[in-house]
Amino acid sequence: MKFIDTRGGETVTGAEAVVKGIASDGGLFVPERFPAVSREELNEMLAMDYPERAARILMKFFDEYDGEEMLAALKAAYSSFEGDDPAPLVRIDDGLFILELFHGPTCAFKDMALAVLPYLMRKGCDLAGIKERLLVLTATSGDTGKAALEGFKGKEGVDVLVFYPEDGVSKMQKLQMGTAEGDNVNVVAVRGNFDDCQTSVKKIFRDETVQTLLKQSGYLLTSANSINFGRLAPQICYYFSAYLDLVSSSQISLGEEADFSVPTGNFGNILAGYYAKRMGLPVGRLLCASNKNNVLTDFIKTGTYDVKRPFFRTMSPSMDILVSSNLERLIFELSGRDASLTAERMHALSASGKYTIRAEELKELKKTFAAGCTGEDDTVECVYEFFTEYGYPLDTHTGVAMNIAQRYLKKTSDDQAERRPMVVVSTASPYKFPQDVLYALTGNDVKDSYKGVKRIHLLTAMKVPEPIKAIRYLPVRFKTVVPPDKMADEVKKYCK
Ligand SMILES: *Cc1c(COP(=O)(O)O)cnc(C)c1O
Repeated sequence: MKFIDTRGGETVTGAEAVVKGIASDGGLFVPERFPAVSREELNEMLAMDYPERAARILMKFFDEYDGEEMLAALKAAYSSFEGDDPAPLVRIDDGLFILELFHGPTCAFKDMALAVLPYLMRKGCDLAGIKERLLVLTATSGDTGKAALEGFKGKEGVDVLVFYPEDGVSKMQKLQMGTAEGDNVNVVAVRGNFDDCQTSVKKIFRDETVQTLLKQSGYLLTSANSINFGRLAPQICYYFSAYLDLVSSSQISLGEEADFSVPTGNFGNILAGYYAKRMGLPVGRLLCASNKNNVLTDFIKTGTYDVKRPFFRTMSPSMDILVSSNLERLIFELSGRDASLTAERMHALSASGKYTIRAEELKELKKTFAAGCTGEDDTVECVYEFFTEYGYPLDTHTGVAMNIAQRYLKKTSDDQAERRPMVVVSTASPYKFPQDVLYALTGNDVKDSYKGVKRIHLLTAMKVPEPIKAIRYLPVRFKTVVPPDKMADEVKKYCK
């Protein structure tokens, strides 16, 4: 399948889209059309395991890849996850489910895609005839960084450079990144927030001097952020798989719709749900759940995206984002795939910090999306109440999505037409944010992450993931801190 650029500049193959990561004009690659998955096909996929279902979906986008090899790569990628199913659907109550996406090597949903991306990129280089070594540049609000470091460590022909906001991640996230292993990885902290990191990374991509220097040194720059379609595609698969699990466990019959509540930051996860719907998956509503950084809530309610507002640091740091990159892909669809209008809006966003979509577009948006945001107290209360009621510890990101889901269910409880199963997408293990989760569960503050881990374990009896145990005594290898305007220099260090 071919991929087009949301700002109209380029048409590329799937392999090229993955290897390049972002179009030269700053636009994002999207499939030229949404491949359809028919009811018969869904029916056939019921009996498949997760890697088989994922291979079926991915091959629709990456049809120049080899199907057998893709399946083998998916099996290998998910073999490092704990348990037999990388994305189990847990029934909590009548009509309420949690999709657990945190069983990978770094305990956050980013692993679902970043375990697969190295294969998509390496094979993509072969298919596109690219001989250069890849330099994977990543801006992270905490979880993408570690997942990229883990996914790419020791892989041939690729180096990884991760930038994260020095004070914008949890202690555990910092420890996870600082102790990363492998000779081909590097981690740099930035004095700024995630938006500073992401904006500087995007600037580096457009910096021709850096590009030329890298090229002369045999490097090609690419991205492991969710602006890369290779990140999005594997995320589409778990919406299919969760739906199929609802059907195979007789919670719904094939064709009935299910809703999803998604803790949202860069709009990557929820966009994958929208793509699944466009491919024919019976998705009802997608709830876009935000924390105090509620720019998306306002956008979905009013049609105006306005980043001129204070930035808050919250206990769900992976959602502390004001400029949600992947929204560009949705805006592109809403505009009727009008690339020049999309480019205009994105330029308005970087020039004046805002844009507004047309009334008909907003109406279309609201057919699928609903939005809500929570304050810190709501999140704490939700995590506490949920544990008290169901004995299930939510992490602080999933707590936001659960709170929004519960409010939505309450509001629509009298409306028969709105009665659909609700799947809350769980994006991280509670052990990844032990201090905040412990605070929510007990009101106690502990300074030490591992004290938090131990107490959560004693309280909940939930198994501590092996990767969390494993990094406790590893040496911290990476300690560099730079201001945002020095990030390009870190990239230039790869030049000979
Ligand atoms: C990245 C992340 C999110 C936000 O996902 P987006 O795809 O950026 O919207 C939510 N929760 C956790 C734990 C994350 O790591």
